[in-house]
Amino acid sequence: MVDGTALERELFDVGKRLAGALPTTRNPLKAIDDKAMDLASSDAELKAALFRFVDVVPATRNLDDLARHLTGFLGEITEPPPSVGVAMRMGNSKAGRRALGLAAAAGVKHMAQRFIVGESPKAALGDLKDLWKDGVASSVDLLGEATVTQAEAQRYAERCVDALDTIAGAARSWPERPQLERDSVGPLPRANLSVKVSALTPLLRPDAPERGKRDAADRLRPLLRRAKEAGAHLHIDMESMDSRDAVLELILELLGEAEFRDGPSAGLVLQGYLRDSPQTLDTILGWLATSGRTPSLTIRLVKGAYWDHELVQAAQHGWSAPVFDVKADTDANFELLTRRLLDARPAVRVAIASHNLRSVSHAIAYNRLAGGDDSDLELQVLRGLGDPLQAAIAAQGLRVRTYCPVGDLVAGMAYLVRRLLENTSNESFLHEQARGVPLEVLLAPPAGTVHHRVGAA
Ligand SMILES: Cc1cc2nc3c(=O)[nH]c(=O)nc-3n(C[C@H](O)[C@H](O)[C@H](O)COP(=O)(O)OP(=O)(O)OC[C@H]3O[C@@H](n4cnc5c(N)ncnc54)[C@H](O)[C@@H]3O)c2cc1C
Repeated sequence: MVDGTALERELFDVGKRLAGALPTTRNPLKAIDDKAMDLASSDAELKAALFRFVDVVPATRNLDDLARHLTGFLGEITEPPPSVGVAMRMGNSKAGRRALGLAAAAGVKHMAQRFIVGESPKAALGDLKDLWKDGVASSVDLLGEATVTQAEAQRYAERCVDALDTIAGAARSWPERPQLERDSVGPLPRANLSVKVSALTPLLRPDAPERGKRDAADRLRPLLRRAKEAGAHLHIDMESMDSRDAVLELILELLGEAEFRDGPSAGLVLQGYLRDSPQTLDTILGWLATSGRTPSLTIRLVKGAYWDHELVQAAQHGWSAPVFDVKADTDANFELLTRRLLDARPAVRVAIASHNLRSVSHAIAYNRLAGGDDSDLELQVLRGLGDPLQAAIAAQGLRVRTYCPVGDLVAGMAYLVRRLLENTSNESFLHEQARGVPLEVLLAPPAGTVHHRVGAA
């Protein structure tokens, strides 16, 4: 049993060390990105205009068209900041629009490159190898979600097979990195792919889940087979609530099939912003106790990326929201789930995915005080958002895995908008950190209504 006071003390030490290891070198292009994000965070109308613009960029025909869209959206802002006034004046002439279109296209492309590693798995190999050499593992995510036709779903499944082969093939020649390749349960695959069920079937609907599950299963089974042959890890992402139950049932049913009982290495995602996430964890742990599957199941704990969407959906249908509405409650529940997951090893391999220094430090500290080895905890970050934390975690000799989206800008738009929303949210940890909130405040326990006391699972 871990003592709450000792946990807070250890957590603060871990957090201070991680904060001290955050790289301080500033990339000038990133500084411009951050400035644009700051501006968007402080002005709701500007933020809405920019997001609508980012969303239409892939559909624009030429630079003139691009500039017209930009000035159209910016023109709706009632009190534009000076930089917006300059852009609007540029939109008055053909030459000005061309220059504005060029600058806007370059800006969006640059922003996307911050979050996306390459247009194809092959193009991403250089970055993946560099990360590995720096002591950072990766999980590749092929952009393109929520397919609408069978042909698109088939294409996505084929791209996944290609990604598994390409990455597993290349990873064989990477240098040894013991801290990334083994925990106390055994070896960890070098190649790791994250997939979305909504991209594997156009039929995933909350009102007819069985049809969607059957259709997705026909594409997921060959992927599991390929991952097993290639010695790769396959991770199933979690999306919004309307597909949550179908996705969870699908994964547990497939992994329970005789052919997958001894592999591949596989995993799923638990979302801590969902009020019923402790019950979901009960279901998963119950399944683990009876399924007869031998490899540990990797569980990636996240807070959840569809918070705004869940609130809007619930309001439209007159339902009560499935997500917490106070940020501190999500944070406290995340800590509670972290402790339960760490206590459930070795049936589960725990991956804590967060950019929040408190959430990450809490997992490291609890694991240590509960007698766990550092190698039995994986920390995960998103490319472009978690780069400094990734470097700090790797510098402490801990295992970190970076989620690396691969694909083109058109396919990546929904992903990009989610990341921008996250980065400009006033409640986000990264935003607070960037505002210079003191370390003691950043590392303080979440003051929500969810009981976060240690031992109160
Ligand atoms: C490697 C990796 C993989 C991921 N995979 C997935 C995935 O498969 N599925 C998925 O859904 N997400 C996924 N995410 C995204 C994740 O869910 C979070 O959106 C993101 O990490 C931000 O959370 P944080 O802990 O880093 O930051 P924090 O700033 O501490 O937390 C932000 C989060 O808090 C929650 N929140 C914000 N405002 C409120 C509020 N008012 N009330 C209650 N809660 C609030 C939201 O979940 C928001 O994303 C992944 C993240 C990482 C790092």
